[in-house]
Amino acid sequence: MTFNTQPKASHFINGEYIEDTAGAPIDVIYPATGAVIARLHSATPAIIDKALNAARDAQKAWAAMSGTERGRILRRAADRMRELNHDLSVLETMDTGKPYQETSVVDATSGADALEYFGALAPSLTGEHIPLGDGNWGYTVREALGVCVGIGAWNYPTQIACWKGAPALACGNAMIFKPSETTPLCALKVAEILHDCGLPAGLYNVVQGYGDVGHALVSDDRVNKVSLTGSVPTGKKVYATAAEGMKHVTMELGGKSPLIIFDDADIENAVGGAILGNFYSSGQVCSNGTRVFVHESVQDKFLDRLCARLQSSVVMGDPLNDATNFGPMVSDRQRQIVMSYINKGLAEGARLVAGGSIVEGDGFYIQPTVFADVTDDMTIAREEIFGPVMAVLPFTDEAEVIARANATEFGLSAGVFTRDISRAHRVIAQLEAGSCFINSYNDAPVELPFGGSKQSGVGRENSKEAIKHYSQVKSVFVRMGDVEAPF
Ligand code: NDP
Repeated sequence: MTFNTQPKASHFINGEYIEDTAGAPIDVIYPATGAVIARLHSATPAIIDKALNAARDAQKAWAAMSGTERGRILRRAADRMRELNHDLSVLETMDTGKPYQETSVVDATSGADALEYFGALAPSLTGEHIPLGDGNWGYTVREALGVCVGIGAWNYPTQIACWKGAPALACGNAMIFKPSETTPLCALKVAEILHDCGLPAGLYNVVQGYGDVGHALVSDDRVNKVSLTGSVPTGKKVYATAAEGMKHVTMELGGKSPLIIFDDADIENAVGGAILGNFYSSGQVCSNGTRVFVHESVQDKFLDRLCARLQSSVVMGDPLNDATNFGPMVSDRQRQIVMSYINKGLAEGARLVAGGSIVEGDGFYIQPTVFADVTDDMTIAREEIFGPVMAVLPFTDEAEVIARANATEFGLSAGVFTRDISRAHRVIAQLEAGSCFINSYNDAPVELPFGGSKQSGVGRENSKEAIKHYSQVKSVFVRMGDVEAPF
C-alpha cells in the first residue's frame, strides 16, 4: 500500500472521507523543502456538526459491546499499523520533517503500542464488589464518558492521534480528533486503518481546522471530554472553555524541564541523555530537558564531549535519507521563533558553544545549538523554545540544584544522571515533575503514565492511569432486606 501525500479528502467522518471545499484552505508544507505537498480545507460548521452527530450516534452501541470485542479491533489496528510502518513513517516525515530514521521507530510504532496496550486492557475494565454489612452490598461500574474530542500538536501527529484514540475507544467512547493544521495528514491514516480493521463508523472521526474548529468542538454540548496536547496558553483557553460545560479534561502541555548531571555521572551517558533530550525531533519535544544543570567540576568535560559528538555525528539533510538524523523545524514560523530565542540568548550574555545559525538553502533547518554559562534569569532558561537549543547551567550542590530545577511554572519532566542510586531517588523525589528519568531521558513506553504537574498539565496519558481519564465510575448500592423509613 502506498500513501499519497494528498489525502482522498480533508476529513474522515462516519467511516468515510469527506470534503467541503467551502472551508478555508490548509496547505501542507514539507519542512525539508518548503514545497506544498497537499491542500486540505478547514472544517465548516456543517462538517463539525456531522462529526459530532456521527460520534454521538455511534457511541452507545460501541460502549454496549464487550471489552473483548472492542479490544480485538484495536489490536487488529495495531498489527495493521506495524505492517504499514514504512509508509506511515514516510508520511509522518513528510508531515513533520522529522527524519525517517526517527519516524520509522517512534511514531506509527508507538501508536501501534497504544492500540495494542489499550486493546489488551479493554476486557479487564471492570468494577468492584463492595460488601456493606447486614447483607447489603454495592458495586461499581466503569462507564464510558461519551464523545471525546482530541486536539493535537504538530510534533507527533500519528502518536498523539493514537495516544488519545486508543484509551478513548477501549473505554467505549467515540473520538473526534482535530490535528494541528500544520500536520493534518497522519491522523487521517489512523482513522482509515481503524475502520479497515473493523471499527464501526462514527467512532473515530478526524476534522481539520485551525483553533476556531477546536474551539467549536470543545464548546459543543454533545462533547463530554477534551484531551489537548499543546502549549500552556492554549491549554488555559481550552480548559476554561471545557469548564463552561463541566467537561472532563486531559491537558498535555509544554515544559522547561531540568536535566541534572552530577559529578559522579557517567559523562558519555549523560551527554547521550542530553542529546536525546534536546535534539531528537530537532528539539520539538514537550518533555525535553532543556535546562541542563551540570556540576561545575564536570562542566568542561561535559561540554567537550557534547560538542565533539555534535561535530562528528550530526547528519543534517534529506529526512527521507536513512543516514539523516537531524531534520528541519516543522515550519518557517517555528524556525523564526527558535531563532528569536537564540538571539535573546546571545543578547543576554549566554556563551554560544555550538550551532546558533539557520542553515542556508531549502527547508527550515537550524543547527543544533548549545549555550553555556546560562543563568536562571535568562529568557532561554525560563521559556519553552521548542527547538534544538540546549541551555547548560553550572551548579555546585544538591540542595541548590533542586531548588533551581523547581523554580519554574512548568512541571512536565525531569532527569538525573548519577552513579549514586540513593541520590538519584532522593533528588527525583523532590523534583516537581510528572515524568522523570534516572540515567536516561525521554523514554515514553505505553506502560508508564505520561503527563505533567504544575502548569504542564492535568491528567495522564498511557498506562492504566489513562483509563481513569476516559471513563467514570458509577456506584450502585444494593439493599437485600427491607427499607427502614422514619414514617
Ligand atoms: P498550540 O497550543 O498552538 O496548539 C495545539 C492545538 O490546539 C492545535 O491543534 C491548535 O490548532 C489547537 N487550538 C489552538 N487554539 C485553540 C482553541 N482556542 N480551542 C481549541 N483548540 C485550539 O500548540 P502547538 O501545535 O504549537 O504545539 C506545540 C506545543 O505543544 C508546545 O508548547 C509543546 O510543549 C506542547 N506539546 C505538549 C506535549 C505533551 O504531551 N505534554 C507533547 C507535544 C507538544 P491550530 O494549530 O490550528 O491553532
